[in-house]
Parts: sequence; C-alpha cells; structure tokens
Amino acid sequence: MSLRIGNGYDIHRLVTGRPLILGGVSIEHELGLLGHSDADVLTHAIMDALLGALSLGDIGLYFPPSDPQWAGANSLMLLTQVNQMVRDRGWHIVNIDSVVVAERPKLKPHIAAMTDKLAEVLGIAPDQVGVKATTNEKLGPTGREEGIAAYAVALLAQSA
Ligand code: MG
Repeated sequence: MSLRIGNGYDIHRLVTGRPLILGGVSIEHELGLLGHSDADVLTHAIMDALLGALSLGDIGLYFPPSDPQWAGANSLMLLTQVNQMVRDRGWHIVNIDSVVVAERPKLKPHIAAMTDKLAEVLGIAPDQVGVKATTNEKLGPTGREEGIAAYAVALLAQSA
C-alpha cells in the first residue's frame, strides 16, 4: 500500500472586531483572527498538510489572498475543495492529527465540535481527526496572545 505524509503550519494575528473560528467552529472570545478569509488557522494547517502529502503546493497557490473571491471565505469550503483534489488523484485520508497553540480562550470545551465538523467536511470518521490544544506557556507571539498558530499532519493512502 502506498502512503504519503504531509505537514502544515499556519498562524494568524489576533485582533479586536473579528470572529474567532477554529476548525469551522465559532468560539466566543473578545479577540478574533485577522485574515483575508475567515482566518481559520486550524483548517488552513490541515489543508496545507493534505496538499503537502501529494506535493501539490500550499493553499496560497489555490486561494491567493490577492484574489477577492476568497475574501471572508468559509475555510471549510476551501477544505472541501482540497479534499476533492486529494480524492480526484486517487488518494484518501488515513488520519489527520493537529494541535492549536493558543494562550486563550480555553479550547478544551470546543475540541469535540471541531473534530466532528472537520470529519464531516472531510467525509471521514471523527476518530480519524486528532485535534489537540496547548498554550505556549506565555512564550513568544502565541504566548503573548498576539496570534494563534496551528500544526497538522495528514497521512494519505492510495485508494484501491
Ligand atoms: Mg492562513
């Protein structure tokens, strides 16, 4: 069986007056993520992991911030397109694992909702989507709450 692994990373700045959306889930917080799309940093990291596994470049190639059609885009819709690219090339997701680095808010209450949402959009089971959260122990930009970062890996297998 052929396997491919990919990894993805993203970070977005925290600002006032923006919603906080992680893994497609809206989270109550006084700050939100700044970006051309909805700035869903977790979904972006997962998309880059999927693209990377097949050496298809990164999300900036397909959804450039310079293109007005992606302004305010729902990142789950972009993830749907990336998932379709994977399937069109004859691959399927074995599993994804990810970690969100955020000092605040506490993400633990939202992990299950993020997992379910991502699994639903990807057409896989929730136990194939790992979503974890950690603080950065107040160190660096994420620790100072200047932004939220996310890391993801994806394992793909060639479909029969
Ligand atoms: Mg991004």
